Amino acid sequence: MSVLPKSIVRLIEHFQRLPGIGPKTASRLSLYLLNMPQPHLEALASSIAGLKKSIVFCSVCFNIAEADPCPVCSDTQRIQELICVVESPVDVFQVEKTGKYKGSYHVLHGAINPLNNIGPDEIRINELLQRIKKGGIKEIILATNPNMEGEATSMYIKREIYRLQHANGQKENLNGLLVTRLAHGLPVGADLEYADEVTLSRAFEGRREY
Ligand SMILES: [Zn+2]
Repeated sequence: MSVLPKSIVRLIEHFQRLPGIGPKTASRLSLYLLNMPQPHLEALASSIAGLKKSIVFCSVCFNIAEADPCPVCSDTQRIQELICVVESPVDVFQVEKTGKYKGSYHVLHGAINPLNNIGPDEIRINELLQRIKKGGIKEIILATNPNMEGEATSMYIKREIYRLQHANGQKENLNGLLVTRLAHGLPVGADLEYADEVTLSRAFEGRREY
């Protein structure tokens, strides 16, 4: 039988469902919250409770935002002909921190991972291809993570774009569309999420045709 009050045990269980949090950290966080002033605790609780209500997916780039289209897609100062393809909204946040990228995004919400039964249809690849098909896009920057899943995803997208470019009856001429891949400076096996701004800036500058 647990000596801890039920409410604490429940909270610990909730924390343990979060990624990267084991039983020890979950207990520590729960006891930490117990010592927090009540107004802070209520503010935290209401942020969590309201999270899904205030967040929508942008119907253009599929990033999370409070409005649809998102601020990037509706910004006329951004180069909408340039699409940076990333795995997660956190990656958009990381790229934005460099302050150097002025194009738009496409968030896949994952990467192809056959071991976990995640195929191309489980992530937002078709939506990206639809965007490309509409025409007017000059460059696709593949910024998926430099690991096996990220590489497989980029390769798949590249192949599908090639197929689009060589499809019969393609109304819009997509032959001028450039496909590049971030390469330089990013350590292999590491996630974009953990790259610092300088490394990520260099990776953008050193992108090559894919
Ligand atoms: Zn958007």
